Amino acid sequence: MAYRKAQDTFDLWPGRSPPCPGETLSSWFTRIALSNGLSPKELFPICVPGARLYQLDLDRFPPRELVECLSKHTGVSEGKIRKLNLNQYLGTVFSDQPAKSRLPWIPPAGTAQKCFGQQICPECLRDDRRTHYRLHWRLYFVADCHIRHNILIDRCPYCGGPVSVLRVPDGGGLEFCAYCGGSYLGGEQTMGTVEESSLLIQRNLLSVAGGNWVQLGERHVHPVLFFKALHHLFRLVAGSQFATDLQEVLAGLSGIDLERGSIPKFKEVERYNPRCRQILLQLTMKLIDRWPTTLVQVCKEVGLSRRRLLNTGHDLPFELTRQVDEHLSFPKFELTKDDIQAASRVLERRGTKPTYRELQKLLNHRFPGHRKLSKPVAKRTVPCGFHRYWKLEGISPQVRQAAKEAAKQAGENIGPWIEGVLRRELNGRKR
Ligand SMILES: [Zn+2]
Ligand SMILES: [Zn+2]
Repeated sequence: MAYRKAQDTFDLWPGRSPPCPGETLSSWFTRIALSNGLSPKELFPICVPGARLYQLDLDRFPPRELVECLSKHTGVSEGKIRKLNLNQYLGTVFSDQPAKSRLPWIPPAGTAQKCFGQQICPECLRDDRRTHYRLHWRLYFVADCHIRHNILIDRCPYCGGPVSVLRVPDGGGLEFCAYCGGSYLGGEQTMGTVEESSLLIQRNLLSVAGGNWVQLGERHVHPVLFFKALHHLFRLVAGSQFATDLQEVLAGLSGIDLERGSIPKFKEVERYNPRCRQILLQLTMKLIDRWPTTLVQVCKEVGLSRRRLLNTGHDLPFELTRQVDEHLSFPKFELTKDDIQAASRVLERRGTKPTYRELQKLLNHRFPGHRKLSKPVAKRTVPCGFHRYWKLEGISPQVRQAAKEAAKQAGENIGPWIEGVLRRELNGRKR
């Protein structure tokens, strides 16, 4: 135990349970506040006079006064308190900590209602002797619990509010939703179980976050640069204009049964819930498998050119740009507007509507960059079972609307959301 010898025992607060191994500062601070009969919001200005709690991410920027005050009144050394924050990953997951900018693999948590950067495992919380949040639950590439083998949650299953450790409801603890008061521990709250392959990827990424270099082909890459490259590729797979094609090809290569439209498309890649994210991570990791063969092969297949691949405002790691320059810079075959328009005329003469799918079939080539040249699929011509909300057919308008809103809150498209609801209902019946 790293208790500091108190100079004056009157300094010590009555509630001063020490931090649990791997706990975050925000979780420990909340526990200290609650054990002294205060809310975190009440205790914070006592520690840092004049400051307001919710403007800060305590796990990224722990105020010096807070650390000193907690140390003085709990007897835990300042050094130990300083280890409870995300600076532990400085030099591995990120290279600097600019005050107002976002970190790629550590989305904001608790500062606003749409910040889903705090994840939890309800089953681990249920098993805790002292309920506490783990530091690695803040990492965006962590979507699974390696102990209980389930998918983490980042929002309340009842109201969709983000998990916010500093906003515990009156009279509640860390296991309650700050927005509706619901308990994260009641019933089946996780988003399902995970495959061993996903757990393995996560274990590897955590070891890189711990400082291990990554071997890509013949070279070893520093963790910071690896995470930078991985984030760039993750964005391409998750939310770029090539995302649908990339996901289809990579799912085929990984042997993942991915239904079309089962992952929503967000421009802000931090918005993916853990279920979607663990699939996207598996697909992204497939892209760097057998480096750089898979990357080159997949990029060629979906028509992802060097220019589009490297088109970013940020510096990209040398190993990525080197491979792209070497393998994807030659003038490659690309369909022109004229080719696509000529193919459209052929289809029309045959009486077939030139939709993207039909054109792609005829030309035997993908062209996401020119997708707009194809005709959209008209709603009424979509056969039953293919339009976006077909799973809600035959349901009353009120229930349909409520289901659409609930799926949106959960960060899901309607298909996977309905499947989750049915799975929970069926599991409930088995018991
Ligand atoms: Zn767990
Ligand atoms: Zn809630």
